[in-house]
Parts: sequence; structure tokens; C-alpha cells
Amino acid sequence: MARILITSALPYINGIKHLGNLVGSQLPSDAYARFMRARGHEVMLICATDEHGTPAELAAAKAGKPVEEFCREMWQVQKDIADGFRLSFDHFGRSSSARNHALTQHFAGRLADAGLIEEVSEKQVYSRADGRFLPDRYIEGTCPNCGYDKARGDQCENCTKQLDPTDLINPHSAISGSTDLEVRETKHLYLRQSQMRAKLTAWIESKTDWPVLTTSIAKKWLNDGDGLQDRGITRDLDWGVPVKRGAQDWPGMEGKVFYVWFDAPIEYIAATAEWADAQGLPDSAWQRWWREDMGAEDVRYVEFMAKDNIPFHTLTFPSTIMGSGEPWKLVDYIKGFNWLLYEGGKFSTSQGRGVFMDQALEILPSDYWRWWLLSNAPESADSDFTWESFQTGVNKDLADVLGNFVSRVTKFCRSKFGETVPEGGAYGPAEQAVIEAIAPRLAAYERHMEAIEIRKAAAELRAIWVIGNEYLQAAAPWALYKTDPEAAAACVRFALNLIRLYAVLSRPFIPDAAAAMLDAMKADDSWPEDTGAALSALPAGHGFTVPDNLFAKIDDARRVELEERFGGRD
Ligand SMILES: [Zn+2]
Repeated sequence: MARILITSALPYINGIKHLGNLVGSQLPSDAYARFMRARGHEVMLICATDEHGTPAELAAAKAGKPVEEFCREMWQVQKDIADGFRLSFDHFGRSSSARNHALTQHFAGRLADAGLIEEVSEKQVYSRADGRFLPDRYIEGTCPNCGYDKARGDQCENCTKQLDPTDLINPHSAISGSTDLEVRETKHLYLRQSQMRAKLTAWIESKTDWPVLTTSIAKKWLNDGDGLQDRGITRDLDWGVPVKRGAQDWPGMEGKVFYVWFDAPIEYIAATAEWADAQGLPDSAWQRWWREDMGAEDVRYVEFMAKDNIPFHTLTFPSTIMGSGEPWKLVDYIKGFNWLLYEGGKFSTSQGRGVFMDQALEILPSDYWRWWLLSNAPESADSDFTWESFQTGVNKDLADVLGNFVSRVTKFCRSKFGETVPEGGAYGPAEQAVIEAIAPRLAAYERHMEAIEIRKAAAELRAIWVIGNEYLQAAAPWALYKTDPEAAAACVRFALNLIRLYAVLSRPFIPDAAAAMLDAMKADDSWPEDTGAALSALPAGHGFTVPDNLFAKIDDARRVELEERFGGRD
């Protein structure tokens, strides 16, 4: 039995995520965790909301709420949606937790002690009316390029030109509107990533089993131009982790917080501590996942994320971990994802284009989405959500192949033999052929899941479903029953066992349907060690019930209606 620590990239607190976000980290991390648990491994699956930074403050202001209250409410919204999609996180934490405050300050203190943090004096805009330094986004004015009068200090939203606050015409505070601004000198902390370059390079080069997508992005940042740059890790904001050096105040850094990108990955550790707290467990319970001197030396740590997060997870977070000089667990494998497109374009909140997670659950049960998204996961390249493809996946794979098989077998058995597994004779050549066809597919399925090749695993799972359908079609117990009821009974016994096997194998992808199938079969969920033995697990006389129809088809009229509803406002 192995111990596997799995983290999903943290969804930002601001707003509800779309299907592309879901399939870019959270959903595949859940499928992988479910598979590893089913194989008997000890798994810790961690996710959390990423709550700090300017966008959260601005969104809270727009909603007319204190940022703390805004984040608390949005965390609950995101938590409920994660539950709706059956994401089996051991803990869904918050980067604003007391645990993350303490750990972030701890890491900053260790890095400073190691000489890896530099204090840099910078010139920055100060608002006398607001009594604070303003981050670039908090300064508004007229764009010198296009004349748009609500351009921000970092970028003009209208013409997308990158700006410096001093470029703006009539600059004013986005908080108070005051134009009483001046440029003052202030200090910020920089993480000296450049000092870590050799160590990081050696570490990345040791990761020969990582996907090229991951290592090439990391190497680009390490080597392009002047190489890896030091990175500012503090900001002038109210909302965030106050800058401290461990438990000590940090002279000159009063009123500043750590930059969200410094504290967010540390929340992976903090959320595991939050988990232990919520369970009433001592610190040793989470430390055995994260500290190699406290039991984590045999943990395999796997991170899931979309490709834009890779630089931070291959360079910035490892700099924090390595630079601390403490034996914290470094990532063993990074699973990066490309983008999910929506009907050939981008998802857009502002244009109402694409399906967002809350809307998806209102339309159809989570299994429908999980199956399509996982079986079309954007692994080696971007993939494209179209309603036509979604309709095909649901109707063919789920309804015609799997759902239909379960329905036909259980209903036929009930009508001829009652709600118990019938006796019949021994399995014959047809059943043996099915066992021989499934065994290598099952091995391939396991191999792909272990390698986190989600699409390939889904293809094997689908093939295993298809084998059962073809068998049933050829064996035709409803015809056989008229001439040889004994043989028909054996066939049905075999098919009922296939349902149990399908339930166990399908669980990482479609947990609700799998649970319904297991319930109906009144069976346990033990993973098959041997295909033949697994297909004799339910003996004659074992009771079952006929489950409700597992999947409903999406007809063309409904598909067109959904295409129109989510096509965006032009
Ligand atoms: Zn502009």
C-alpha cells in the first residue's frame, strides 16, 4: 500500500468557475484519487479556495461587502458546487485560514534567515486621502493610447495596452476617487529565485518522467533571457497574510501583505493542517504527509493544474520549499492540462459564453459532465466542448452502452428468474471469451490511471462496457430462454456479475451511477484482482434490485436549446 498526496490547483475565490477550470485540475485529481483509493492506497486529496489579492478586494467592493464576508460566502458557493460534482476532497480549505497565515510567515522567516529574501526600495503611488500605497490596479485614469477613461494602472481594459500608473492621464484612486496622489519610496520583499537557479535546474533535470509540457515550461523560465528572475512577494493591500518574519514583526513592512502567489501554494500544506484540525487530530497527522522527517519520506506527491500554473509550481513554490532548508515534501509528479475550448472559442463570463459549474449541475447530473470532460480531457492538446460531442458521449457511451446493459440485464432477470442471481450451469466458451477480452483491457485501464492518462483510461473503460454489450447481444438470453433456460440463467448470472464489475471500475469517472449499480447489486466495491474471479463474485441466490434508469438521452431539440442558451450574447 502506497501513500499518495494529491493537490488540485486552487480555484480563485472570485466567481464561479467554468467547465474548463473543472477539467483542468479538480476533476482529474478526484478521478485519480478515487482510483488510488479503490486500489487500497492511502490517499490525501487537498484543494482550497485561493482568496487573497486585488481581484478579491475589488469584487467584494463591487458586491458591497467586506472582503472577509465576500470570501466566506464565495467559499461556501464553491464548496457546494464541488460537492455537487462529487469531488472527493479530504479537505477543501481556505488560503485565508489561520494555518496559512502562520505557515506563510514561517516560510518567509526561514527564507530570510537563509539570505533568500531581499528588501528592495521602490517608488510607488501613495494616496494621501486613503492613507495608503495603491497597487497598480487601484489607480484609474484615462488611457493615453485610446482615451478610455476607466483604464487601470496596470492595463487598459478597452485597448488591452499594458500601462504603468504614471502613464495615466488624470490618475485617481479607485478606492476614494481622490486625485491627491504622489509617488513615494517604499520597501518590498523579493524572493531571490535567481539564487536558487542551479538547485532548481538540477531538480527539474532529475524529473525524467515528467511530461515535456511541464519541463519545457520550467526550463524556459529558468533559461530564457537573463534567466530566472527574483520575484516581489509583498503587496500594499489590507486583505492577505500580514508580512511577518516567522512570529516576529518585520520592520519597515507594516501594513503590507504577502503577494497571493507566495501564500497560495503554501495553502496546500495549510489545508492539510486544516483537515487535521477539523478531524480533531494532532499536528503529527498532517505532518506525516508533508515533513520527510516526520513520516512523509514514503509519500508520493502529485499536483494537478492547468498549464498556466506550471511556472509557479515548478519554480516559485519549490524555491520556497527548498529555500526553507527544512525537509518539506517536494512534488514528485506534476500533471498539467491544456485548455478546454467552448464550441471552438473561449469561455467568457462577461459574454455569457459557455457552461459554468453551477449551471451545469442545474441542467444534468454530475456524472454526465464528469464522463464527457474526463473522456475528453485536454491532456496532449486543447480539446473542444461542443454540445454535439457532449450529446454523443452521453447518448452513446452512457445511455446506449452502459445504461442499457444494466437495464436490460436486471429487468430480464427479474421477469424470468426474480430478483436473485439465477443458478444455471457453468460458464461456457462465450463467457470465457469475455473474460479473456476484458482482462488485458482492465490491465491497460489500471496502467493508464496509474500514469494519469485519463483519456486513454476512459477509452479502455468504454471498451470494457462495449464488450459486455456485444456479449449480451450475441448470447441473447431472451431467445435462449425459450430453448435452454438453464443456459440463459448462466448467461444472466454472468451479466449481473459484469454490472458489479462495471460499477467498481467506473467509480472514478461516474461515482453516482456506480453507487446506484453497486446498491442494486447489493455488492461490495472490492477491486478485481482477477477478471475471472471478479465475474463469479455474485453467486447464485444473491439478491439484487432493478435500479432506476441510469442515464437519460439528450434529444436533438434539447441540444439545440442548450446550444442557444449558452452560445453567448453577441
Ligand atoms: Zn486604452
